[in-house]
Amino acid sequence: MTLFDSPAFEAHEEVHAFHDAKSGLKCLIAVHSTALGPSAGGCRMWDYPTAEDALTDALRLSRAMSYKNAMADIALGGGKAVILGDSRTAKTPALFEALGRAVESLSGRYWAAEDVGISPSDLAYAHKHSRYIAGLDGHPAASGDPSPVTADGVFRGIRLCVRRALERELDGVTVAIQGVGHVGAYLADRLHAAGAKLVICDVNAEAAAEVAARTGAKVVAPGAIFDAEADVFAPCALGGAINAETLPRLKPRIIAGGANNQLATPEIGRAVFDDGILYAPDYVINGGGIINVAGEIRALDRNEGFDPAWVESKVARMIETLEEVLDRAISESRPTHEIANRIAQGRIAAAEAARG
Ligand code: NAD
Repeated sequence: MTLFDSPAFEAHEEVHAFHDAKSGLKCLIAVHSTALGPSAGGCRMWDYPTAEDALTDALRLSRAMSYKNAMADIALGGGKAVILGDSRTAKTPALFEALGRAVESLSGRYWAAEDVGISPSDLAYAHKHSRYIAGLDGHPAASGDPSPVTADGVFRGIRLCVRRALERELDGVTVAIQGVGHVGAYLADRLHAAGAKLVICDVNAEAAAEVAARTGAKVVAPGAIFDAEADVFAPCALGGAINAETLPRLKPRIIAGGANNQLATPEIGRAVFDDGILYAPDYVINGGGIINVAGEIRALDRNEGFDPAWVESKVARMIETLEEVLDRAISESRPTHEIANRIAQGRIAAAEAARG
């Protein structure tokens, strides 16, 4: 397979491969679209089995960022960086400094922030060599870790879905959370505070035990989360949680979580719809983090301090957009992900047409 034939390529504007022999950095940066503004999206570090897997992930995530940013109504396009390597053993300051030089070489067409395997302290090294790094701590425009804002948006989205599909509040509702890392753990805390019961899993047993100790969650083995007796399934680990093997096992009537690319294929989204399950499209419900990052980029551009009220207004608008998607799915009798794709593609196409 060549890059341009990849099913995930889908009209990317730019795809870059960077190698830094000194630090060992191997990194791909994919820029799907800059029609709505400079591209922005997290940087992920993962021990991919092959470079082709890394490329496919970068392309899929970058396109999803275009859609996510369009739906979040922020003036940013979609891009994504992936670093090939094990984040538990291969992180060094030099690696992230090399990442900063790579990002800087794109002259602001891509803004990096955190994603799986990366923290604000890692990005501080990248920031030494590039101003196009967001999600930092310690300066007036800084927005810090985006995960709590992502979790807040997911929490509000789950509450909306529960109100609509189950006609009740979260008190006593059972939510099964796959992955209790940054987003999943904050989400578990919010749901617990709202009276929800939790079933959780994580391949990192320590992370699961910590969350269970403070929320009373029932911990199950990672593979068993798909069989959990629950009202809501919240994927908060990696992509592809909803697939032909897992969907027939799922008992919840609602799927709403923080992970990117939850549907293994578009066809499985259709099967979710046919099964009568309410699916909150991932890139609509998990936009809180990139909204927080956009708040930092906006503050840097205006030479102002970070404005949490602007972020709150955009997160509230994001939940209204989710409601619009759910309404249209009913009125048009189509799966929610198809409705969301159509709205996002329309917004990007309009911006493309406007820039000529
Ligand atoms: P994280 O690395 O902190 O957490 C992911 C957790 O999932 C880890 O604890 C990991 O051990 C666990 N995990 C991995 N594979 C698993 C499996 N098969 N079964 C159970 N647990 C598994 O990452 P995060 O920042 O919490 O992001 C989680 C998801 O949300 C990712 O898909 C990410 O792209 C997406 N997301 C994150 C943000 C954000 O603000 N951090 C924003 C939008 C989307």
